[in-house]
Formats: sequence, structure tokens, C-alpha cells
Amino acid sequence: MKTNLLDFDLDGLVTWCQAQGEKKFRAVQLFRWIHHKGVSDFSQMTDLAQSLRLMLHDKAEVRALSVVSRHNSADGTIKWMFDVGQGNAIETVFIPETDRGTLCISSQAGCAVACPFCSTGAQGFSRNLTTAEILAQLWFAETTLRRELGIDERVISNVVMMGMGEPLQNYAALVPALKTMLDDHGYGMSRRRVTVSTSGVVPMIERLSQDCPVALAVSLHAPDDTLRDRLVPLNQKYPLVELLNACRDYLAYAPRDFITFEYCMLDGVNDSDAQARALIAMVRPLHGEALPCKFNLIPFNPFPASGLLRSPPERIKAFAALLSEAGIVTTVRKTRGDDIAAACGQLAGDIQDRTDVAGRRAKTIRIHA
Ligand code: SF4
Repeated sequence: MKTNLLDFDLDGLVTWCQAQGEKKFRAVQLFRWIHHKGVSDFSQMTDLAQSLRLMLHDKAEVRALSVVSRHNSADGTIKWMFDVGQGNAIETVFIPETDRGTLCISSQAGCAVACPFCSTGAQGFSRNLTTAEILAQLWFAETTLRRELGIDERVISNVVMMGMGEPLQNYAALVPALKTMLDDHGYGMSRRRVTVSTSGVVPMIERLSQDCPVALAVSLHAPDDTLRDRLVPLNQKYPLVELLNACRDYLAYAPRDFITFEYCMLDGVNDSDAQARALIAMVRPLHGEALPCKFNLIPFNPFPASGLLRSPPERIKAFAALLSEAGIVTTVRKTRGDDIAAACGQLAGDIQDRTDVAGRRAKTIRIHA
């Protein structure tokens, strides 16, 4: 089988090229052709020596993912479903705005965290994606959109690792993909335009701060451990006090940054005034340092199996007002792409649940206790 060059960050590609007897600068040229210019056909890489192009034809390829379907929303959002083999399919979403183009990328086929308000969590878990499968989503979306728009400039300015999966439970594949996004010879994105969203894998937050401190978003969803244990089951392993300490430590390596707390608004579950005040006390303790953060309130996108409802608009407004009055920057996420099930929490490809996450979730999770 040929080596898929999408599996490498620049260091990895240098190592692979050197193992083939090629110099480092050739790897840089090749990397730029693939990621900067979006070219997959080696014969079009005109500044590479003919002998190198022949070697690449024999031993390597730039293998994108097969598209299962594409849906275009009335608001311009695009959702692709990609086949990743063995009955699994993942989803990727492009969200255009006036000043940016954001790609929401999946990191796993399914997710083992099993949050009850999330369609992906309801499907169970099959496997981690490879670096190539993570980067192929960006490579494909960027090259496709550029071709369709007939432009040479970059279309995707921001990446959020908020699609299917818990990215920090796929750390080894994630980091080379992030490095490629940041690399000036790759996608050249600034650190703050690449966001990793985690449900709170504390040891990996610490590692990310050392290896690649991109912007960090945390799926918080509850102001106390009792509720969070049920809404984000990973909390049973890494409770809030540990998670908040990891967030504080992270910011020491991401200067002038803040943590974005994602908070899915669930009617009668986590949306009371008292819970808003508890959140304020959590990030602005009376005795102790405030945690630099902002809140992103996400109106829940209901799906039948969840048994949950979206908080009414006036409740979301009142909740946001309490946080804002306490001096915390608070936004309410606009729902994008909900006519094509591409909104937050709605992504659900086709997953062969190998760990019976869905079964265990159905037995153990009772939100309205
Ligand atoms: S919200 Fe995130 S961590 Fe929770 S089940 Fe969904 S994809 Fe997994």
C-alpha cells in the first residue's frame, strides 16, 4: 500500500523523505504543494526533480476521503459526510461568515464520552481517525471550495475541532494535524484561529499546552459535579476542580488567551438563575483569581432519543444577562445549518459502535433524576 502523505506534519514528511534519500528542502516543497497549493497530482509539482516525482508515484499518494453526501444549507453552511471504511462515516461542516470561513472537523468515528445531549454521543464509538483522515477533511474542503469559487486565496480561515469525537482522546493523531494547520508551509493559520474543543480530558489539556497551545474550548454544560457527571460523563473521572485548574495552567502557555466555555442550554436542566450564579462563582471566585474566559451559550438542538428540550429564548436571554452583568463576555451561538442537521450537537455519521457506548449510555444516564 502506498504511503498517504496527508498523514505527516512537516517534521514527519522530512523524516519520510530523508528515509527515501531526499533532502529536507524537497520535503518542504512537497508539503507546500500538498497543503498550501492543494495539489495531489505529483506530475503537476513542477519544481520537483523528475526522479523525485517518479519515486512519489511509486511509493506515495495524497489520498482524500470518499464523499458519501453533501448538503448545502439555505444559510450557506455546507455539510459533507465522508466514508472512513468498515461501515463508518464522519461529518465535516463549513460555516461561511462575512469575515471568516470556519471548518468544523471530526476527530473520531463516533465518541466514547456519550454526552446525552449530543447526537454523536448517542451513536457510540468505533475508532480514532488517523492524522490523514483529520487533515483530509481540511484539505478536501479547502481545495473544493477554492475550485468552486474560482479563487486562489484561502477560503478556510478558522478550524474548530468540534465535530464528531473527543479530540483529546485521539491525541497522537491530533497534534500533527494541528501543527500542519499552523505551519506557514501548510495552512498558515494563527494559533488563535485553531480551536480544540474538549469535554475535559485533563492530562491531555496539560500536554497540549506544551505541544501545541492552540485556542481551547471546554464543553462545560453544568455548574456542579453532580449534574456534570450526568451531562458530561467524563466528569466522573476528571471533576470540575481538576478541569478548572487545568484551564488556568493552560493559559500560562497561551498568553493573552481565554478559555471558551461551551454551555448547551437545556430546558429545566442547567438553565436556572441559580445555576448562572454558580457559574459566575466558579470562574470569578470571591477569594481567588478570576479565570479569563468567555461563555458561549448553545441553544440545544433537540433529537428524539435525547428526551431533552431547548431552553426557551427568554430563559437563554436571562441566563446570558446574568453572566454579562457579572462582567463575563457571553455570546449566544447562532444556529447555523439546522435545516441540514449540521448545527452543534447534530453531527451523526454512520458508526459501528464497537464498545456499546450507546447501550451503556441508555442504561446509565438519567438527566431528569
Ligand atoms: S458533546 Fe463532544 S464529547 Fe460529548 S458525546 Fe458529543 S462529541 Fe463526544
